[in-house]
Amino acid sequence: MIKRILTGDRPTGPLHLGHYVGSLQNRVRLQEEYDTYLLIADVQALTDNFEHPEKLEANIFEVALDYLAVGLDPDKVKIVVQSMVPELTELTIYFMNLVTTATLERNPTLKDEIKQRNFTKGLPVGFYTYPISQASDITIFKAHLVPVGEDQLPMIEQAREIVRRFNRMYDKVLIEPKALVGQVARLPGTDGGAKMSKSLGNCIYLGDSPEVVRKRVMSMYTDPTRLHPTDPGHVEGNPVFTYHDVFNPDKAEVEDLKERYRKGTVGDVEVKEKLFKALNVFLEPIRERRAHFASKPGHVREIIVEGTRMGRAVAQATMAEVRTAMKISYKLQG
Ligand code: ATP
Ligand code: MG
Repeated sequence: MIKRILTGDRPTGPLHLGHYVGSLQNRVRLQEEYDTYLLIADVQALTDNFEHPEKLEANIFEVALDYLAVGLDPDKVKIVVQSMVPELTELTIYFMNLVTTATLERNPTLKDEIKQRNFTKGLPVGFYTYPISQASDITIFKAHLVPVGEDQLPMIEQAREIVRRFNRMYDKVLIEPKALVGQVARLPGTDGGAKMSKSLGNCIYLGDSPEVVRKRVMSMYTDPTRLHPTDPGHVEGNPVFTYHDVFNPDKAEVEDLKERYRKGTVGDVEVKEKLFKALNVFLEPIRERRAHFASKPGHVREIIVEGTRMGRAVAQATMAEVRTAMKISYKLQG
């Protein structure tokens, strides 16, 4: 049996460098080998954006464009819109019985995200329970593998726990998924924050123009203890060098910059200029493919509609098995 991948992104904005190294790169690499479903998680995005639902539609399109731009092949992968698979909501409700509030409270990513979002009118139940809905996303597709960034590991663990409980209690229907973390588990933000994240405004987006990338790089956080280019600087924990390590293929140049930075014989401007150049080489082909697909919005919409249709068929088949296993497949018709 060909194995499946399920992973996804929230349509809260276009995708950024963190998505690439955390997850997209693995998806591209594995698309030939795995039957791949990419979920654009608009229902999950609503859990902390319910006051601005109008943002979703345009961002669904942006995320799909980013998928195509990085080389995900629409003849191989299925792009699925979460809200158009209502079976996911049904499975989430059943899963809610299998999870305790204590387990949710212990989820470290959920804890961080709640703190970060600082909900002023109280914590919405929808946000609090999104790890359960994410478990439905993964398991309804019977995914074996979930390529994600490190922040998602507690979510995969939660999904695995639910699968074990479900299979033990009802019947062995669901598959216990495995996480696959990318080349960089968690790319820091341009502000030096621990994670580049759409909600934090510390991103370099895959579709950014050269001018914008340049501006974002030149204003990046570096070493706050270094006031003059002649001061010895710190390379570790400095996001400019983290990005050099990841995106600059010229390792000799990176080593030379690091050495001179430590000694205080190179300025931030030169280090950043070279980073900008490397990023631009990396982003140029992505930008070109993005522009190509952006000029054919009808085609992109067709890709999404077809992917969603195929995804929903898988979800419906799983739900029939789930209901049978739970003995709620009532024979009340005919
Ligand atoms: P939001 O701020 O709306 O939560 P986000 O930038 O965190 O957006 P998500 O859509 O939540 O992006 O994440 C989609 C996928 O990308 C997840 O697998 C996540 O782990 C991965 N990812 C996101 N940001 C990073 C990052 N900075 N480094 C590595 N992986 C990342
Ligand atoms: Mg996120």
